[in-house]
This record gives sequence, C-alpha cells and structure tokens, in this order.
Amino acid sequence: MTAREDAVIINSLVRQALTSMQEVMGEHGLNAVLKSCGLDRFAGNFPPNDLEPSIHASQYAQLNQAIEDFYGRGGRGMLRRIGKASFQYGVREQAALLGVAGVALKVMPQKERIKFILNGMANALKKSNPEVDAYLDDSDGKLAYVESTCAICNGRQSDISICYLYIGSVSEAVQWATGREYEVTETHCIAKGDAYCRFEIGDPKE
Ligand SMILES: [Zn+2]
Repeated sequence: MTAREDAVIINSLVRQALTSMQEVMGEHGLNAVLKSCGLDRFAGNFPPNDLEPSIHASQYAQLNQAIEDFYGRGGRGMLRRIGKASFQYGVREQAALLGVAGVALKVMPQKERIKFILNGMANALKKSNPEVDAYLDDSDGKLAYVESTCAICNGRQSDISICYLYIGSVSEAVQWATGREYEVTETHCIAKGDAYCRFEIGDPKE
C-alpha cells in the first residue's frame, strides 16, 4: 500500500462534512447517499468531534462520487453548496482553529484578506492532521490554495477536475474574508494525474 491508500480522515472532519451534507441535502438525501456507498453506519450517527481516525480518504472520495451520481446533473452544484456550508461550519464551530476569532479583516487590503483566510484553512487542516499537505500558492501573481493530499479525489480518475466540494469551500472562504464573490477554478486535480489539487482565485464577480 502506498501512503495515499493509507490516508485517513479524522472524526471531526467527517462530522463537519456529514453535518454540511445534511444541511444541504436533507436527512433523507444524505441517508440514501450513505447507503449507496456503504457508509450507512453514519446515518443519524455522526462521529464525535475529535481527532481520531474515522474513515479512509478513499471512502471519503467515494462519498463525494456517490453524491455526484445520486443527483446527476445537479450533483456538482450540490457539492459546491456542501463545500460552502462546510466552510461556514468551520467559522461557527472552529473559529479558533481557523484563526478567525476576533480578527479585524476590514483594515486589510483584499489580497491580504484572501491570503489570510487561505493560510488559515491550510493551517487548520494541518493542525488537525499532520499528514495533510496544504498551502497557499502565491508564486505567479495568482493566489491559489493547493493540497497534495486532497481526499475528495483520492483513488479516483477523471479527464476533468472533480473536487467540487473543495471549490465551494475555497470560494466561500474568500467571500467570507472579502465580502465579494470571486471566481474559483480548479486548475490542477490529482484525479487527472496532477501532483496536487490547485484552486485558483480569479477575478471578483460583478
Ligand atoms: Zn482533489
């Protein structure tokens, strides 16, 4: 087994994902999806809010795939909405971990606010699970959030980028920090054979 196949998701993150999924899909929707991918033990039974290993990253990836399959054409939009709800959960439940408690963002320029929140997301993930490799990429004039241990596409293969839930989380984070909606594009995806998943912050929408 490679390290990637060994990768696990901790309880608190599975709890965050399931809570967000239930918010967006409703309890019946979530339970149907959990059943379809062999995770029905979580139906009405979310894991506790701790750092213990919960499921393999590949199972989390299958859960994402199952949502896409279950909702057909609406699946990608559904996953983006779940990602947005997931960031809001982080602000609500883990403000200290995310580093957003009592921060005066309004005094910062837009670009600094984006860097602040993307760094916060990467650091929160790494603090929760030291195996995670996530960082802010500021190298070619564009800001991007990068993760080489992305669980959403773990073990999946695709011709196109598929980490819709992550796009939702990153765009919600940027909107939260700036008060504006920015275009977010997944330029690289491990499912396509890239070394990492990369979410580039584009221009603000009108
Ligand atoms: Zn990915």
